[in-house]
Amino acid sequence: MFDHIVRSVDEVTRKARAQQTRNAGPVPADVAAVYDWWRASTPDLEGERRLERERVIYRQGLEHAIAAGDHKVIRPHPCPGCGTWGLFWDAARRRAVCAYQPAVDPCVDSDGIANTWSLGHLAYEHVNRLSHQEKAAGGTT
Ligand SMILES: [Zn+2]
Repeated sequence: MFDHIVRSVDEVTRKARAQQTRNAGPVPADVAAVYDWWRASTPDLEGERRLERERVIYRQGLEHAIAAGDHKVIRPHPCPGCGTWGLFWDAARRRAVCAYQPAVDPCVDSDGIANTWSLGHLAYEHVNRLSHQEKAAGGTT
């Protein structure tokens, strides 16, 4: 768990440094505060660069939950392949697996194996979905 946190903070620090447009002070020691620090030091990010920041933050949130044994964070995501709500976490493969496997038109890859998704892919889809919803609601992103 400690290594996981260190790696997460390292990733945020590296990506934030590449994007920062204003000084938000030193990197906070508390992992939860690192995300606010990143946002506070990159308030003007737009478009794809802003989405990239939010994807990393969201993915790390999923990673933290999974690392703590909370697999329930997977279920609220629709399957990127078929759109159904049957994803579950496969700890051995570290992938979300689609449970939609009816006899006709199951959600499988070219080998007939249930489709699986990385946390990064789920975060990508989630942040894009939110972004589209904001646009549809007249937001500025
Ligand atoms: Zn599916």
